[in-house]
Amino acid sequence: MVQRMRLDSSAKIKSQCLTLSASHMECKPKLIVILMFFIMLFVVACKPKTNESNVDTSVASTIQKPTFSSDSAFHFIAQQLSFGSRVPGTAAQQQCAAYFENKFKSYGASVVMQRTNVVVYSGKSVPCINIVASYNTDVKRRLLLCTHWDSRPFADRDDSAVAKPILAADDGASGAAILLEIARQLQQKNPQIGIDILLLDVEDYGQPEYELNQKQGDFYCLGTQYWSKNPHVPNYTAENGILLDMVGAKGATFTLEGVSMQYAPAFMKQVWRNAAQLGYSNYFVNNLTDQIIDDHYYINTLANIPTIDIINRTYTTKTGFASHWHTHQDNINIIDKQTLQAVGETVLATIFDF
Ligand SMILES: [Zn+2]
Repeated sequence: MVQRMRLDSSAKIKSQCLTLSASHMECKPKLIVILMFFIMLFVVACKPKTNESNVDTSVASTIQKPTFSSDSAFHFIAQQLSFGSRVPGTAAQQQCAAYFENKFKSYGASVVMQRTNVVVYSGKSVPCINIVASYNTDVKRRLLLCTHWDSRPFADRDDSAVAKPILAADDGASGAAILLEIARQLQQKNPQIGIDILLLDVEDYGQPEYELNQKQGDFYCLGTQYWSKNPHVPNYTAENGILLDMVGAKGATFTLEGVSMQYAPAFMKQVWRNAAQLGYSNYFVNNLTDQIIDDHYYINTLANIPTIDIINRTYTTKTGFASHWHTHQDNINIIDKQTLQAVGETVLATIFDF
């Protein structure tokens, strides 16, 4: 990823609640009792969007602990890194795409390789390979699981070698690795719903920050923008979507991100409840954070699929992202199997509970 967004809609939601409540207070006295009732209802309805600890995890556990191997997911990260940086337009991109295709087919998925070209910020056209691996293609109820798999061609947050591509162990390979392991598990325990795993390309080719003339435009998430306008199946839709982005680092914290809470608040809270019931509330924390433009923004707004983003956010850096973000520190040493385990189990539990 990703960019932070100009508009903070959680603030907007808050102000809408206040505005409506205030206008109700000006009504005639005989209506006050009735109106107070509706105001209370409205306040209750608004509350989950503004409260910072709004996921009730006190309910007894109904979630079964699924089988997920973080050893296997870790291995899938190492395999992706063995191709080098998976930068669009390189041999590593083609090799890694073929690796994914073979792996998903070996795990019994129906695989569509969506190949196109997209134009990046510099005006250059690069190959874009979105990979879709589907289970139960004839089932109408579907859940979309997605992540980007490309490596950023620059290390523009680093102090050195800024023009060299990053390995992207966390910001790229971690999400794809977890979804590969989920595919391996789905082959062994078939879910009742349809699952589409979508690996998105050319997400992280936005203009490097060290260039002087910064261009205006949507230059991140190019593969997602293409897929959202040209889905692999005509009129494709899913009931919900889950995006994974930077889901492998040691000590990661996944917050209630603003765009997700705008488009799919109930689903997001359900996923966070599942995580808590599995014992992972130290990773899935109940803090609202600002809106970011990530792949899920385009899936929500262009494909109209209510999609949440499981993404590592932090309060310890100015950017709001972990210190290895868009640096050469984003290599295998940053990956922690416990984080992979927490995310993998939570997503799998959500699939079987959907
Ligand atoms: Zn990135």
